[in-house]
Amino acid sequence: MKSTVYFVPASLMNDNIGKVLKISGFLDLLPYRRKLGVKVHFGEEGNNNFLSPKLVREAIKTVSKCGVQPALLETSTLYRSKRADAKSHTELALSHGFRLNQVLAPIEIIDGKRGEGYFVKDTNLPNVKKAKIAKGLRKLGLLLNLAHFKGHFVTGFGGALKNIAMGLSAKGGKLEMHSLSKPYVNPDKCKSCGTCLDACPVDAISFVRYVAKIGLNCYGCASCVIVCPNAAIQIKWNEASEMTQQKLAEYAKTILEDRKTFHFNFAINLTPNCDCYPGTEKPFMPDIGFFASYDPVAIDQAAFDRIDEKIKEIYPHLNPEVTLEHGEKIGLGTREYQIVEVE
Ligand code: SF4
Ligand code: SF4
Repeated sequence: MKSTVYFVPASLMNDNIGKVLKISGFLDLLPYRRKLGVKVHFGEEGNNNFLSPKLVREAIKTVSKCGVQPALLETSTLYRSKRADAKSHTELALSHGFRLNQVLAPIEIIDGKRGEGYFVKDTNLPNVKKAKIAKGLRKLGLLLNLAHFKGHFVTGFGGALKNIAMGLSAKGGKLEMHSLSKPYVNPDKCKSCGTCLDACPVDAISFVRYVAKIGLNCYGCASCVIVCPNAAIQIKWNEASEMTQQKLAEYAKTILEDRKTFHFNFAINLTPNCDCYPGTEKPFMPDIGFFASYDPVAIDQAAFDRIDEKIKEIYPHLNPEVTLEHGEKIGLGTREYQIVEVE
């Protein structure tokens, strides 16, 4: 059976965000005074291509009329940046215009001060057996996913699925998706301070000739990466793109299966890299508009179908459809869709 994907062209987006939320029936799912998590991306420092606070405000205005209590959700990044801890991430978001009086919803970084807060969910999926999910999601049953659709150097593209999977997992989950290997210590940077030994929950780190060494029982929680004051603990970004994409679909499935969620893909500012890129790239094609659906596979497929030739030109070595294929295989959604154009 085909999933319904709503489409609004770029020139009509502002006026139709509320309309799509209404005709999709999502507003009817919002119980009075319950919390609604709104997943956004505030953009890396120096990047101006993230989803604008004005568009986020349109969505918040509409859902707030139902009496629901929206909050803008984000998590800390795995890599070192202003978005790697809650305080500087929030400051960056405010400086990017996500102020309460502008977007009408507070900011919540939901995985603790430095990405240390998570819960584990067991799965029966092929690759991810224990998903590490941001702790703030534990009691949250309603989500609105406001994703910026664009290219990505590891997965080919990033849209609704990636915004959920990477954006709502804890640092250990991000590590699991990104890296085949455990973290390793760069001996030239290690100052033997011992901070990582104290932080490791399974005592996997010891000193060998005054340099920290990660042992075999490391399970990739990323705590040591977070705490090392000298950036000596690093990650091998060598996970094959296809495995990253499979795990991404599996994290999205694990997070979404307990939550009523409606997804938007804003296919605008279509840049080769994602909003984590610390610079403002030029779009590779004109804005398309937004797609919206309950089905995260169908919505990513619909948006990807509009830019697939360009993405294959930019990343000829990648197969960007693995996330979609695997997402369909594990029951996350369907790649078959019908477009309902809204004007
Ligand atoms: S926290 Fe960093 S610098 Fe300190 S012992 Fe561990 S690896 Fe070395
Ligand atoms: S990733 Fe976690 S389990 Fe592995 S060494 Fe670091 S703190 Fe320990």
